[in-house]
Amino acid sequence: MIKITRDHVIYAFSRWDKPAAFAEPGQCVEFETYDCYQGMVLKEGSTFRDFDRRFGNPATGPLYIKGAMPGDTLKIEIQKLEVGPVGILDIGGSSGALKEAFAGREPVIRRLSVKSGRIDYDGIDVPAKPMIGVIGVAPSGEPVGTLIPMNHGGNMDCTRIEEGATLYLPVSVEGALLSVGDFHAIMGEGEVANCGVEIEGRAVLKVDVLPQTGISWPVLENERQWITIAYGSSLDEAAQRAVEQMFYFLCRKMGLSETDAGMLLDMAGDLMICQIVNPQKTVRMEVPKWLVYAMQERNAS
Ligand code: CA
Ligand code: CA
Repeated sequence: MIKITRDHVIYAFSRWDKPAAFAEPGQCVEFETYDCYQGMVLKEGSTFRDFDRRFGNPATGPLYIKGAMPGDTLKIEIQKLEVGPVGILDIGGSSGALKEAFAGREPVIRRLSVKSGRIDYDGIDVPAKPMIGVIGVAPSGEPVGTLIPMNHGGNMDCTRIEEGATLYLPVSVEGALLSVGDFHAIMGEGEVANCGVEIEGRAVLKVDVLPQTGISWPVLENERQWITIAYGSSLDEAAQRAVEQMFYFLCRKMGLSETDAGMLLDMAGDLMICQIVNPQKTVRMEVPKWLVYAMQERNAS
């Protein structure tokens, strides 16, 4: 299997980056990642003074996928997601909805042992739910930093980007240039205070190219759901986008009428907040597959 070690990291998704590896469509690739602090505060007793912010939120890559062209969609199956032995939780006055509550205080850092799917929070056993915070391809224009989520993916911090899920990203440059990082052993919906349990790890991703799909934003699929993930400078803006994108996806890709698609969203669509802590917010719209398929079948009969 192709492997990209974490010696190959990026801090911005850029069309000008040299590929770390090349894959054929249909191949599996292993990505080895750092935590979002690039391991700089893992050592007991270290503080954020030991963390050089220039190296924040590294993503491993980029992977060049042969044959991927602008207008295509990159299909990414998350076949395996493993996280490291120690996760970092920290809280302070620098970001998130509790910024004022913690203003002026020294950040508190906790290093939590993660073993066999369990997180040890001060003696309390918390079941892990590993997820990928940053996953994206290169945009067509200027480079976009790894802290920012947009239509290329990036720092979406969506808890549904987990093992077993399949993510679809719009390709904007030849080769797509896929990079991955910022894993969390667990993260609450909204990532409200500052972070998830920030952790290094390994992901095995199967990449494929779907030609000219006409979808220009991230779509996610799991066993039960179709999901659109949208960004915005406000939650309102991100929510509006997530709903419209799902509506267009249901009409154009799933073949539903506008009335069915709208009513499906009203009956069974779940609008969820991914995160409110990044430079752009992310919101997702989830719909149950069974109802989409039931509407398709009824229309076919
Ligand atoms: Ca993140
Ligand atoms: Ca993170």
